[in-house]
Amino acid sequence: MADGTDIGYLMGTYSRLPVAFARGEGAWLWDERGTRYLDALAGVAVCGLGHSHPAVRQAICDQAECLIHTSNWYQIPLQEQLGQALCAVSGMERAFFCNSGAEANEAAIKLARLHGHERKIQNPSIIVMEGSFHGRTLATLSATGNRRVQAGFEPLVSGFNRVPYNDLDSVRQVGEHDNKVVAVLVEPIQGEGGIVIPDTGYLEGLRHLCDERGWLLMLDEIQTGMCRTGKWFAWQHEHLSPDIVTVAKSLGNGVPIGACLARGAAASLFHAGSHGSTFGGNPLAARAALAVIATLKQQKLDQRAAILGDRIIARLKEGFQSRTEVRSVRGRGLMIGIDLDRPCRVLMEIALGHGLLINVTAERTVRLLPPLILTNKEADEIVERLLVSVADFLKT
Ligand SMILES: *Cc1c(COP(=O)(O)O)cnc(C)c1O
Repeated sequence: MADGTDIGYLMGTYSRLPVAFARGEGAWLWDERGTRYLDALAGVAVCGLGHSHPAVRQAICDQAECLIHTSNWYQIPLQEQLGQALCAVSGMERAFFCNSGAEANEAAIKLARLHGHERKIQNPSIIVMEGSFHGRTLATLSATGNRRVQAGFEPLVSGFNRVPYNDLDSVRQVGEHDNKVVAVLVEPIQGEGGIVIPDTGYLEGLRHLCDERGWLLMLDEIQTGMCRTGKWFAWQHEHLSPDIVTVAKSLGNGVPIGACLARGAAASLFHAGSHGSTFGGNPLAARAALAVIATLKQQKLDQRAAILGDRIIARLKEGFQSRTEVRSVRGRGLMIGIDLDRPCRVLMEIALGHGLLINVTAERTVRLLPPLILTNKEADEIVERLLVSVADFLKT
């Protein structure tokens, strides 16, 4: 069916827009009829290097000719190289590889529990935030601060203690009353929650509380990581260092791969047999991710994302200046949110009609996560098409 609610052989987990893409290059996608779309979503922050990037394409082809998969029963030099490359850009010390964001967070949650049991805490709990998103597995949906993600899947996994986002006092209070806390799991900028940027000093404040109490600071950088916000990782806008970081989405530019990175004592909590993944860090995925990291570095795409983000945000602010229906334009690097005064999910379809791919999250926040390889002209084109789409939406 055209509305995508009943597509026969697939379970109805997604409400899909009525379009299928056949080809992609850079920031552009072509549908089956040859119509061209400008992609300001990049597969939800996955294709940071755009579609069919030559370096990633070459890496995948070369590796597929050579060796796709072995097993974590054997040494995997490409996985070791990737661990080293990720530690170099993050300042972390060790990596565990998996295949998705949820799995990376599962690893982090398991590390927190091991950390708690080492400290003789029987029922360790993790502080998580209202409005957060951490994935769809049972543990990660339990950690997620959105009832719609949890509804119907009870009983939830226990051991999460929820507080408001961007509120250090609440975290401090939980610490004073609950001696079972062992870690804080938090997004440096909330993505699904509506591009919520906390106050400067929030992450440093969390770091301070974690140090005081012996908790692990675990940052979910699945959406914010890999140069998107103008730094390799969003926490690097401040002066701190987390104990655990989770990465996925743009790590493989579309090849499924996730990673849980750790530093200090947290890096030595897993032992042989305590965790694992069949596919995790296989030669194909590791090779693709190495190509992604090399390209991000070579082209200094962290700096480029910052410049492009400033440009897009400035032009959007100007373009929406006289529109009282647009409540706020904000972002960091190429993670941009535009709040409207009303629910606006239908804007995704309206924008599609104008050849622009965007997302709406948290009901009324337009979310832009374009690829970092945009030209200035493409960045301006995103703004133009969005202004037209919003004008259309507000007319209806
Ligand atoms: C997308 C996302 C996840 C889940 O990643 P999957 O690969 O879909 O499992 C977790 N946390 C954040 C912040 C995300 O944006």
